[in-house]
Amino acid sequence: MKIHFLGTGTSQGIPVIGSDHPVCLSQDSRDKRLRVSIWVEVEGQSLVVDCGPDFRQQMLSSGCTRIDGLLFTHEHADHTAGLDDIRPFNFQYGPMPVYAESRVIANLRQRYGYIFATENRYPGAPAVHVHPIEADAPFSIGGVTIQPIRVWHGDLPVLGFRIGDFAYLTDVKTIETAELDKLKGLKVLVVNALREAPHDTHFNLQEALDFVNLVQPEQAYLTHISHHMGFHAEREKTLPSTVFLAYDNLVLTLE
Ligand SMILES: [Zn+2]
Repeated sequence: MKIHFLGTGTSQGIPVIGSDHPVCLSQDSRDKRLRVSIWVEVEGQSLVVDCGPDFRQQMLSSGCTRIDGLLFTHEHADHTAGLDDIRPFNFQYGPMPVYAESRVIANLRQRYGYIFATENRYPGAPAVHVHPIEADAPFSIGGVTIQPIRVWHGDLPVLGFRIGDFAYLTDVKTIETAELDKLKGLKVLVVNALREAPHDTHFNLQEALDFVNLVQPEQAYLTHISHHMGFHAEREKTLPSTVFLAYDNLVLTLE
């Protein structure tokens, strides 16, 4: 399994437009963060989680040329606003297979009526093939089993995903104890950590580290990072030996 971090930044990305914060001015490429997304290559399948406003750029820079499943964690714009840019995939492979909860699909249908329309479609409009999924029902894409995990982004229910010994959880503030059973025996856990200061709907650094401690994966990578987390190079030195800050274009290979 190959995991490509396409974006590791919070909703505004880093640098933030117009910001003169030192992290926004950093020349370290690891301090430049697009909106969160990952691309997972597993058993011949190509899966992308979320499709934010940097989707086009992320597809180009990572070299992702085919998607067998586009999975959504939730409907917020930093995770969905790139949906119009699936068109090159449509022209080559037909409608994009999209996997999301019914609530998220309904929300996208409302915001992107022209993509979901079945009549009077504009020629060349983006096209999707919708697969509703549920938190407690594992599903499969091309023979790859995916276990959804229910997490809470404040009071918004969000999905994380487990594929084999890898789990990806973003935009988490709380998780019910019962869901922790789905996270046993992980080699790699990716989880969000916004910054040091607390936030209403995201884990801050300490909450993310406490969560990693609870789940006990072999390794953990933090994502959905704000410029307030500080410089990558400095912050990473302070982390436990099995916890890392993810950064854009990082690729992990899991046996
Ligand atoms: Zn987000």
